[in-house]
Amino acid sequence: MGVFDRVVAMTLPLVPKPVVRRVASPYIAGERMDDLLRIAEGLNRDGYRVAAAMLGEFVTRREESVEAVREYEALLARMSERRIDGYIHVKPTHLGLKLDKSFCLENVRTLLAAASRQGLFVRIDMEDSPCIDDTLDMYYRLRPEFDNVGVVIQARMRRSLADVRELVKVKANVRVCKGIYIEPHSIAFTDPELINRNYALLVEELLGAGSSVAIATHDERLVFEATRTIERLSVSQDRYEFQMLLGVMAPLRALVRGAGHRVRVAVPYGPNWYPYSLRRLRKNPAIAGYVLKSLFKS
Ligand SMILES: Cc1cc2nc3c(=O)[nH]c(=O)nc-3n(C[C@H](O)[C@H](O)[C@H](O)COP(=O)(O)OP(=O)(O)OC[C@H]3O[C@@H](n4cnc5c(N)ncnc54)[C@H](O)[C@@H]3O)c2cc1C
Repeated sequence: MGVFDRVVAMTLPLVPKPVVRRVASPYIAGERMDDLLRIAEGLNRDGYRVAAAMLGEFVTRREESVEAVREYEALLARMSERRIDGYIHVKPTHLGLKLDKSFCLENVRTLLAAASRQGLFVRIDMEDSPCIDDTLDMYYRLRPEFDNVGVVIQARMRRSLADVRELVKVKANVRVCKGIYIEPHSIAFTDPELINRNYALLVEELLGAGSSVAIATHDERLVFEATRTIERLSVSQDRYEFQMLLGVMAPLRALVRGAGHRVRVAVPYGPNWYPYSLRRLRKNPAIAGYVLKSLFKS
């Protein structure tokens, strides 16, 4: 990211919300469930699976989590009714992790039971470092009760290799990502090269130990490393998939699918688009140009 892009990224919170909304629109299906279902059906037609999520995180009132559970239950029912090839993924802090851990656990359990009735899967996302222990603890408590639950490991975290070595013992279904949250050097790799080496190592550990792996990245070097590992270990197609975000690197996802791998696109929706949009825009190297163009349009 150039210096100018970095400055724009840092000053994004000062950019008017309607401008952020416009620039972020490729990353979000829309505000309503119907928007999500429409995009999901289109992706399915193009040969991609879907991971649907409602935008929301770090809620401060229990009612917000209760509302999120209701919305996700309705979404599961509609995905099943419309035979969408997809699953849902949920953020623990959206379901109340920061308010009350047992309340959050019950919320995730409710969704797992609802998804299980529809034959669908639920992945628990990983948020910033203070959430990791509680999220893994919740996963280990739910795993004996449910087969349709997965978790996420972040390659930037120094602890992740140790976490993965525990997760394989319960045959966990794990999404590996770099990790979107900025973490201190004492607990996280900050050198991009080390994050990438750790990423490749985590994928290899998981696949080698028989776990199912979702390889979530738009970094072609990591896609390359993962495909070599898959080939070398003769991993069958039902044990791995690649995952990318809506609006990011669509040409790469087409190449990966064209090479015969399964690809899932993560599609967020809902009215709480602002924090998600800021994080996505901060990751976009062309951000300054986009924001400037949009400012002139407004
Ligand atoms: C399906 C999925 C689920 C995820 N779940 C989690 C999670 O639970 N917890 C978590 O902490 N993180 C999660 N992430 C985010 C992830 O950790 C990374 O921050 C993000 O995917 C960028 O990392 P990358 O591997 O694509 O590599 P990067 O090196 O960041 O990017 C690789 C390439 O993709 C391009 N790119 C990346 N982002 C953008 C963008 N917004 N716009 C345009 N180009 C872009 C860059 O130009 C670069 O060339 C998830 C990502 C995906 C794809």
